[in-house]
Amino acid sequence: MSSAAPTTEAIVIGAGIAGASTAFHLAELGVRTTLLEREHPASGPSGNSTACCHAFYLMPELSQLAARGTNILKQIPELTGEGINFQEIGLLWAVDPDSATLFGDAVDRVREEGTPIEALPPGEFEKLAPDYNWDGVALAVWEPSAGYIDPYSATSALARGASNRGVELRTNTRVRKIVAEGGRIAGVETEDGVRLAADIVISVAGVWTKPLIAQLGVELPLTIERATVAVLDAPGAAREFMPFDWADNMFMNYGRPEGEGAIYLGSWPGGGTGERNLETERGVLISDPEGYSQTASDDESVEILDTFLTRMPKLAELGVKPGHACVYDMSPDDLPIIDRVPGVEGLFVVCGSSGHGFKLGPGVGEAVAGFVTTGEPGLLAPFALDRPSL
Ligand SMILES: Cc1cc2nc3c(=O)[nH]c(=O)nc-3n(C[C@H](O)[C@H](O)[C@H](O)COP(=O)(O)OP(=O)(O)OC[C@H]3O[C@@H](n4cnc5c(N)ncnc54)[C@H](O)[C@@H]3O)c2cc1C
Repeated sequence: MSSAAPTTEAIVIGAGIAGASTAFHLAELGVRTTLLEREHPASGPSGNSTACCHAFYLMPELSQLAARGTNILKQIPELTGEGINFQEIGLLWAVDPDSATLFGDAVDRVREEGTPIEALPPGEFEKLAPDYNWDGVALAVWEPSAGYIDPYSATSALARGASNRGVELRTNTRVRKIVAEGGRIAGVETEDGVRLAADIVISVAGVWTKPLIAQLGVELPLTIERATVAVLDAPGAAREFMPFDWADNMFMNYGRPEGEGAIYLGSWPGGGTGERNLETERGVLISDPEGYSQTASDDESVEILDTFLTRMPKLAELGVKPGHACVYDMSPDDLPIIDRVPGVEGLFVVCGSSGHGFKLGPGVGEAVAGFVTTGEPGLLAPFALDRPSL
């Protein structure tokens, strides 16, 4: 292995949505950056995300990062010159009586932070979907500027946008080792034994993070959960059945139309609000991010669909297409982990997006670029490694 003088100031490991955005924003700040990706941009969970994007969260920092992230996604055509359009279809979120005050207060805060959003009372939310069964719903959060984007194209566009701003993007380049010398970062070593030197390394490697960082003697409290998505066949009619992004804090499910022809349905343990719901069943833990079925079985798809049928009985009219599965990079409190790595100056880690990190990713990348260059975590402060809930 040969060592070399740094030709780059910062190395970003991983071109998922968060890593691509980090590299993009480092370049905007004039930092000479190399983005290393083991396969190609969006080849991990980012490319397989349902990519529902909204600002509504119970935690202010998550709302602000999500609002910023969603705005960056909306600006992709101007930022990158690529015609990837955000589908602004709104988000409707059904809320149970016990959570109504908490959610209503968060709606007021999110509105004050600049996102149009309302807490609709009974008599109002039914108008948005008259054929749904609204039993037990105390209020519904309506965020009209929410929606979704093609996650693969959006992630790839940000990576290409980074490259067009001078970032050296190396695909098919797996980092096998992060190299530290004398308590500070020296660079990385790639799978083929090449050593790349840098003053700053930012690991944004999703479900592949834990073993990479463990080599430095730091054990991160991360687990991996398999997440399934059921796909309903709704040729030409998807938005008649589900006109908006959907979330339901009683049945713990979410969904959205995929264009005009299909509907994606999933279940979530509660992390999407910014508060862990301890009563819901957790996803299946897996140990190997390569060794799991990427197809949702018929039984798995039907199990998800069943959680919708009380609320949306008409979905039973639709056929079930083959569903898919991917993985969540989970932290113990369902919140991201974004911090300096203790004991290795110049090394940062961005991980633990816990199944809700697509909309956050672009805003997180921008904030990480700021953290790295100013030393101030800003909005990222609550996601520090020394928080008590880890
Ligand atoms: C089924 C599903 C549905 C989801 N739905 C939503 C949703 O509706 N809304 C939402 O906000 N979020 C959602 N999420 C979560 C969201 O997709 C993730 O939180 C987010 O994509 C994580 O992005 P990331 O950049 O942190 O990681 P990743 O996408 O995992 O990217 C990490 C990248 O690092 C690369 N890499 C790893 N190790 C190395 C290495 N050693 N060397 C070089 N490169 C490496 C990988 O190849 C990968 O490209 C969903 C996730 C899943 C699985």
